[in-house]
Amino acid sequence: MKGRITSCPSCGAPVEFRNRGSWVAVCDFCQTAVGRGDKSPEDYGKVGDLVVTDSPFRRGTVGQYRNRSFEVTGRVQYQHPAGGTWDEWYLTFRDGKMGWLAEAQGKRYLTFRRQLKPQENLDLDKLEPGQHFRIRNQEFSVDEVGSAVALAAQGEIPWVFRPGADHRFADLSGSDGAYATIDADETGVSFYLGREVSLDDLQLESDDWQAERSPQLVPGVQLNCPHCGGQISLHAPDKTERVTCGNCSSLLDVSQGKLSFFKTVTAKKVHPKIPLGSEGAIDGTSYTVIGFMERFTTYHDKTYPWVEYLLYSTDKGFRWLVQSERHWTFVEPVATRDVEFQNRAASVNERRFKMYDRGHAIVRFVLGEFYWRVEIGEAVETVDYISPPHSLSVERSKTSSSEEFNVSFGTYMTPAEVESAFGLESAHLPIPWGVGPCQPPPELGYGVFLLWPVFIGLLWVTHLGFRQSDSFMMLFAMAAVSLFPIGVLFYKHNFEVQRWQDSDYSPYSSDDD
Ligand SMILES: [Zn+2]
Ligand SMILES: [Zn+2]
Repeated sequence: MKGRITSCPSCGAPVEFRNRGSWVAVCDFCQTAVGRGDKSPEDYGKVGDLVVTDSPFRRGTVGQYRNRSFEVTGRVQYQHPAGGTWDEWYLTFRDGKMGWLAEAQGKRYLTFRRQLKPQENLDLDKLEPGQHFRIRNQEFSVDEVGSAVALAAQGEIPWVFRPGADHRFADLSGSDGAYATIDADETGVSFYLGREVSLDDLQLESDDWQAERSPQLVPGVQLNCPHCGGQISLHAPDKTERVTCGNCSSLLDVSQGKLSFFKTVTAKKVHPKIPLGSEGAIDGTSYTVIGFMERFTTYHDKTYPWVEYLLYSTDKGFRWLVQSERHWTFVEPVATRDVEFQNRAASVNERRFKMYDRGHAIVRFVLGEFYWRVEIGEAVETVDYISPPHSLSVERSKTSSSEEFNVSFGTYMTPAEVESAFGLESAHLPIPWGVGPCQPPPELGYGVFLLWPVFIGLLWVTHLGFRQSDSFMMLFAMAAVSLFPIGVLFYKHNFEVQRWQDSDYSPYSSDDD
């Protein structure tokens, strides 16, 4: 393919545009973003410094996607409004086609730019998280709408990148890993369609990147608290955005393996039942407990607190273990595209959940490491649904420039299951209070319902067999035999009433209040 070499308007060094689709190239000598320009190159200003990440990609990395080879020719690093950065890599395929590879929180999405038909006009201002719509005969759901800052860049960039400019976007997900983004720059709205990919899908030529990882990003490295000098070690250094100091209770910002003071958290003596750093296995995956958080909601002027443990696995990423009223739930993320909302109900993969609760969850205490810029007082809107032994939680968070929508799927765990998963002594965890919202109902009783007609039948046979048997005695015996199943029914009903007692949506509540 024909390239073009021009000279940098800032320092005069040669700047190459190898790809015809490149709008901007970053000068390797003075870090100026150079616009291709119609006639002469334009100076778009200096780019920021790239934040070191744990990515296997670099400019020049060569690989293959679906038997077509590509080379990484450029990169833009964005600053997310909620803190944190993500990378977008630009792949140039042999035929000159460009691929957009986004890398965020351990996930990768490869998309290609698609022309929109006139009737498919997408208005970024009208999109809302949670909304579903069809485009290109595929069903998509909006996961996030926001605005990020394009800070740093390298190589050739296939859109009009201006350092420090706001970049508006929407992330969409569809079924079977389908993924799309919509973004807007000064040339208009663009649509990108593709899917989530794994490293195996991209067949990188060399995997020596492991050896070149920055030593600062190796898990377990010891850092010093900038406030008190105490030692802090990070379990997920390339993903952690905030960490607390166990010594002085400072909440610290983490950036490129460096710590800076953010604010002091009210010191209180909290000893999580599962200590930070504990390792455990759930469903065959090993996790390390890296964070602990207390959140609460208020209802009729009363405060209801609960705690959440943040679990980290190098393979699966982040999970939560939530403890409320001493009941435990293991929580995993769900793709919003898989969720359908109905009036006071939601379904995921044909499982129907009933609305249980809605409110606001507010953070009141944190300990350990977090993958976002957690703050005391941080609030999200929540809606909880149940379908025992599972739960579904929807959280909506807003910042001044973005709105995010997250859904997670919970599975009830008994204290004994949590104890055995984390190697805790038995009876280390307290006995739960009442009935948990997604606690499975007792299984006891089905045998009784099957045996009941058998007993009744036997009584009849006995009654008919002995002519002189008393009818009154017969009725008495039948009543006695029926008492137990009635008791079981009563117990099960009572269990369900208790499950719903804290909910405004209880199917058992009386209408007279
Ligand atoms: Zn230059
Ligand atoms: Zn400290």
